[in-house]
Amino acid sequence: MEDNLWSKALKILNADKRIDPIIYDTILCKMKLVNYDPSGIIVLSCRDEYSMSLVKGQNLDSYIKSALQLVAEKNISVSYVEEGDDNAIVSSTLAQKKVISKNYSSSIGISDEYTFENFIIGDCNRFAHASAISVASHPGSKQRNPLYLWGNSGLGKTHLMKAVGHRIKENFPDKSVLYTTCEEFTNAFVACMNNNSNYESFRNKYRTVDVLLIDDIQFLIGKEGTQTEFFNTFESLINAGKQIVITCDKAPKNLTELDNRLTSRFQSGMMMDIQPPDFETRKAIILNKLENDNIILSDEIINYLCENVTKNVRELTGAYNTVSGFYILQNRNITLEDVELRLQSIISPGKSKKLTTEIVIDAVSHYYDITPDKMMSNLRNAEIVNARNVAMYICRDLLEMQYTKIGSYFGGRKHTTVMHSCNSVENDSVLLKDVEMIKKRITE
Ligand code: ADP
Ligand code: MG
Repeated sequence: MEDNLWSKALKILNADKRIDPIIYDTILCKMKLVNYDPSGIIVLSCRDEYSMSLVKGQNLDSYIKSALQLVAEKNISVSYVEEGDDNAIVSSTLAQKKVISKNYSSSIGISDEYTFENFIIGDCNRFAHASAISVASHPGSKQRNPLYLWGNSGLGKTHLMKAVGHRIKENFPDKSVLYTTCEEFTNAFVACMNNNSNYESFRNKYRTVDVLLIDDIQFLIGKEGTQTEFFNTFESLINAGKQIVITCDKAPKNLTELDNRLTSRFQSGMMMDIQPPDFETRKAIILNKLENDNIILSDEIINYLCENVTKNVRELTGAYNTVSGFYILQNRNITLEDVELRLQSIISPGKSKKLTTEIVIDAVSHYYDITPDKMMSNLRNAEIVNARNVAMYICRDLLEMQYTKIGSYFGGRKHTTVMHSCNSVENDSVLLKDVEMIKKRITE
């Protein structure tokens, strides 16, 4: 696995067109994985100091990290040492371990992934963002406790909530922050219900933190026992001046299935909703990602994304990842058509693939094993003529193109010539069978 990890990551890096092939050959290929700790700590060796400075100085380290993460399928942390420097390998592994344990001892569930820095503000989330910032600056202040963020799925509630936790850790390193989903809270509670000593540690975990971030509170619906436990946790924290942040897919007044002791408490602090992102926010989100990933896409493609993926940010992010992943693996500039094809299942599921003359020509060319060039040419060899006629026939049949348009596409043929070609297919049962086979392939 360990050896594989780096060689697989190298393959990804080799395909990454943001990386100069010379750098790949002379620097990356020469690097070795010298330590892999199962907690996700990786040490790579560089041949010399110069290579190491290049890796750190040219964004390469971030590409390396994402490639390794992709292969390892988990969060990892990477450091670099000079080849042969065994002491450095040990000390850098230990140093990374320290960083990890420091981050996790007093802040659980918070990472660098969701911060205020990478949260884009727009009209849809401006007030939610502002209140999150103020909670992060003055955790526990009465007017904003609890902070209750609500809105549909995929609009950034979890992101904003974790950003609050992250910022509090920066501003007040001594405060303990706990992020948990309501589902985790429920499961943990259920698991210790019949065991007193476990229940003690459950209570200790949730009632001794300085900041409790609890995600998707709607999960409490229908779970009376957990509701009571959460109510008690809530009261004990609030009374001790600890900050609580809650997210939910509904406004408190619409949580009618919940004990109203709880919903009235939720309304006693600050409530903020997040709305679906408007066009400008969507575009700002995409531009921000492009900049971070060092990727350039045409305006046409960016607008296509932002105009068509509108429901929520999660979908927009997913569409972006599809396109950027494709971009990285291609060695050419990608076109709007590439993007339309990649995003078809997200943007217009159910609609059939947009058919073009290129797709028709391509299918006919494969079927008869005759190149498109030959089909467009004036060669009169029977096989080529048949393939050409069939291609024209299918353009007419599937794309409903006019004879003149087909003629101009096929190297400036006259409209009567095209008509004649189509008729000859129409009257040939063997060619009609071919047409059926090709059409089937195209539509599948
Ligand atoms: P929710 O919790 O509301 O379902 P998330 O917080 O999980 O939504 O957001 C879904 C995805 O969209 C995440 O990847 C998040 O980082 C991203 N996202 C949401 N809103 C924004 C924003 N305003 N700026 C940048 N990224 C955002
Ligand atoms: Mg969420």
